[in-house]
Amino acid sequence: METLGRKEIYANIAAHNKALNAYLQIVPETAAQAGAGPLSGVCIGVKDNIAVAGLQLTCGSKLLERYVAPYTATVVERLVAAGATVTGKLNMDEFAMGSATTYSAYGDTKNPWDEERTPGGSSGGSAAAVAAKMCDAALGSDTGGSVRQPASYCGIYGYKPTYGTLSRYGLTAFASSLDQIGILTRRPGDIREIMAVAAGHDGRDATSIAAPSFAAQGFDPAKMRIGIITEYEQKMNPAVRPAYDRCIEKLKTAGATIIPLSFPEYDTVISVYQVIATAEASANLSRFDGIRYTARAEGCDFRETTAQSRGRWFGPEVKRRILLGTWVLSRAYYDSYYLRAAKVRTVILKRWQEFFGKVDLVLTPATAGIAFKRAEQPDTFALYLEDLFTIPANLTGMPAIAVPAATHDRLPVGLQLTADLSRDGMLLDAAEWLDKNFMDCATIERGCRHDTI
Ligand code: GLN
Repeated sequence: METLGRKEIYANIAAHNKALNAYLQIVPETAAQAGAGPLSGVCIGVKDNIAVAGLQLTCGSKLLERYVAPYTATVVERLVAAGATVTGKLNMDEFAMGSATTYSAYGDTKNPWDEERTPGGSSGGSAAAVAAKMCDAALGSDTGGSVRQPASYCGIYGYKPTYGTLSRYGLTAFASSLDQIGILTRRPGDIREIMAVAAGHDGRDATSIAAPSFAAQGFDPAKMRIGIITEYEQKMNPAVRPAYDRCIEKLKTAGATIIPLSFPEYDTVISVYQVIATAEASANLSRFDGIRYTARAEGCDFRETTAQSRGRWFGPEVKRRILLGTWVLSRAYYDSYYLRAAKVRTVILKRWQEFFGKVDLVLTPATAGIAFKRAEQPDTFALYLEDLFTIPANLTGMPAIAVPAATHDRLPVGLQLTADLSRDGMLLDAAEWLDKNFMDCATIERGCRHDTI
């Protein structure tokens, strides 16, 4: 895998991080030693909810401000064993809840293409660092789209593997049945090389699976059936539509069969996701009790200490989600909310399995529009709608990748490809084909440095 070199990367960090606020902690250049192996010298930025022993693990929260990780996540361990270097910890929405990095307790991150705009979230620091060439690749986490949405807003690749392919050991849990570590890069081929060392069964994660094949098989569009979802056409805005239409046209001209699919449940995905994700979050975040993990506001007993600590240091969005999650799990409402959402999740899974009986890949936009202005952030519920196109892959566990496709008003537009479970290799083949044959290189420079735009 090609690296920009440690010197250039640290020069970029020095030049841009103050303005962009992508890194929350930077490993000093002298300590960032390259090892030997297939990823020798590759500089990796790590989202601040993934543990690296000796480095901070704030999860974007005040509650973990002084917490230092005592061990290293499996994925990071494998990358470092292959010669990669960790350059630092990247900004994020608190506990990965958000779509704009504005819910970070450490200030939001700016989009390198236009600092007045959001890089997306919750892996906004990861996407901005890759786009501004402040690392070769970054790790993020994707529960409902948090790798793919910011990748799309920053004009880079964002890949969420098949659930279980990358170990979650060392990733701070948000919603365990949806969470996956994901990878953000400027080139699709880099993802393959990172997956070749990072993927594979890990005995420390009970949901981990054997790695599917990542070897390049070559991509022949003439042999491909590409699904497009009819209901989505009403949901994309004019900034995205032309790139989507052009991509369909390009695939058609190259011989692909385009097959329209109907996804009548599409408008349930946000509610199903919010019920399941908040329910799981309310359980996962109960470990932050003011007794373990640093920050403590002393009360007269355990209950009060916990209430004081959580009340003082959790931000408003995290509190909202915990309250909602606790409520949907409560005895009176469990059947009508949590159980119902779990059933609809199965219906959605069956629908997507049915899709992959008819097509090889599904093409959709990654996001409905382009990066919005930081000053014009939509309200809480409108922000939840950001994830309309990305959530199905989390609910079903299927692999999906956001690919940079074009620009609109000098801002990146992303599309998304989804494949059936464990067809990650083919998904990456398709992304590479699009990279070579479709992406308009005259209008989009993969990985912009913000001083050159
Ligand atoms: N934007 C979504 C949310 O706020 C997704 C978050 C994620 O994928 N971590 O929940």
